[in-house]
Amino acid sequence: MRDGRCSRTREMRVGDSTKPGERSTTIGSFRVRSSRRPGCTAARDDTTAIRGAFRASALSFSGSTTRRQFVAGAAGAGLALALPFPLRSRQERQFDTVVVDGRLVDPAEGIDAPRDIGIIDGRVARVAERIAEAEGRQVVRAHGMIVTPGLIDIHAHVYDGVSGVSIEPDVVGIAKGVTTVIDAGSSGATTFPGFKAYVAAPARTRVYALLNVSSPGMTISNELADLAYIDPDAIVATVEANRDVIVGLKVRMLAGIPGGNDIEVMRLTRLAAEGAGVPIMVHIGGQTSPLARILEMLRPGDVVTHALRRSGSILDDSGNVYPEVLEAVERGVHLDIGHGRGNLDFDVAERALGQGIPLAAISSDVHRGNALGPVFGLPTTLTKFLHMGMSLEDVIGCATSTPAGIFDFGEELGTLREGAIADLSVFQMVEGDYELVDSGGKRRRAARRLVPYAAMRAGRPYGAITR
Ligand SMILES: [Zn+2]
Repeated sequence: MRDGRCSRTREMRVGDSTKPGERSTTIGSFRVRSSRRPGCTAARDDTTAIRGAFRASALSFSGSTTRRQFVAGAAGAGLALALPFPLRSRQERQFDTVVVDGRLVDPAEGIDAPRDIGIIDGRVARVAERIAEAEGRQVVRAHGMIVTPGLIDIHAHVYDGVSGVSIEPDVVGIAKGVTTVIDAGSSGATTFPGFKAYVAAPARTRVYALLNVSSPGMTISNELADLAYIDPDAIVATVEANRDVIVGLKVRMLAGIPGGNDIEVMRLTRLAAEGAGVPIMVHIGGQTSPLARILEMLRPGDVVTHALRRSGSILDDSGNVYPEVLEAVERGVHLDIGHGRGNLDFDVAERALGQGIPLAAISSDVHRGNALGPVFGLPTTLTKFLHMGMSLEDVIGCATSTPAGIFDFGEELGTLREGAIADLSVFQMVEGDYELVDSGGKRRRAARRLVPYAAMRAGRPYGAITR
C-alpha cells in the first residue's frame, strides 16, 4: 500500500491465513498496523516484515483486507480488535492480489522471464511485465524469487493414520510449495471413503487419489497377497462415484504377488481402468515377468513410476535403456520418478538422463518413512534433478505442465496463464554447499537448491517449511 489513504493494512508474514474461519497450517506470525484517525497512512512498504529465517528473502506480503477477513484473521491470531473506520471499496483496486518482481517459470506457456501476476477471485487475471503494486489489495513481493505454477506431486502417500507410512498432506503439500498432491494407491475401493472424507476434504492442499486396485489398498502390508482383493466392478463403481478426487488407478508390482501372477494382476487392472476410463500408474520393480511384458499391457497415457530405481529399473544389465521402454514412451506411456525410500538411484538416473530418456513427471513418493530424509519432499527431489543437469524449465515442467496433461483434475492446473486457477509456488534458489542423498545412500554435492518460500492455492497465500 503506497497510496497514503486511510485503510487498515495487514502485513502478512509468510504463513498467515486470510480467510474467515480458516487456520493456517504453516509457520509464521501475525502483525497488524492500524490507526483510528482518518487521513493516516496505515500502511508502509515494509520489507522488514519478514525477519529471522526469512531475512535473506525479499518476499513479503502486504495489503488491505475486508473487515470480515481482517477480524477473522486477527481473531485467528489471538487478537481482538475493533475497526470503527470505513473500509476501502474493492472497486478501487483492480486485483485482489498482485505478485510482483518475480521470475516466472511457466513451462506450459514457454515463459521464463520477469513477470508480474494479477489475481482476481482466485484466478489469474493478468500476466504482464509490470503491474503496479497499487493495483493490488494485497501485494506479494517476490524479488529474486522464482514463481511457478503450483507444483503437482503425482506420487505421495497421505492417508495419514490409516495407511501405515502415510503422512499429513499439508506437511508435504502446501507447506512445501506443493499445491496439489496425488496419493498413489494408499486407499482402495473399501478404504477410499475415509480417505475422501477425512484426508482429501479438509486438506489445504489439493488432494487427489490413484485408487489402489486392491480393495484394502495399502492399509495392509501386501495388498496383493490375495488376488481376491482385486474386484474390477468395485473399482469402476468407486471411480465413477468419486471423479472429483480419483484421477486414476494404482497397481504395485510387488514381489509378494501369489504365484508370481503379475500378468493376471495387470490384466484385471487394465480391465478396471478401461471400465472407469482413467489412466493406470504402475509401480515397477517387484514383477516376476520381464519389464517388457508389463509395459506391453500399458496404454498411451498410463504411467510407469519408480523408473530410476536401482534394481528392476528401465536399464538393462549393461546400463542401457531397454528398447521396449523407448517404444512404450514413443507410444505415449509416461515415465515418473517416485523417489521414495528405495526408488531413486543417482547412477541409474545419471545414465538414463545421459541417454536422453524423457521424463514426464518428477514425483517424491514422500511418506512418513522418508520425509526426514532422503526424500524430504518434492522441492528437494526437484533439486536432485537440477543437480543431475536438467534445466530449471524442464524440472518445473515435470512437476507442473506435464502432470496436468496426464491426469484430469477437473480444473486447469499446472499453468499460470490468464484464466487459470491461481495456484502458485514461490521459491528461492539458494547457493551453498549441499549434500544430496539418493535412496541407497549415494551422495552428491550440490551448489544450489530450491527452497520453497510460499504457495498460493486459488489466490490464498500460505508460507513454507524450507526443506
Ligand atoms: Zn509409493
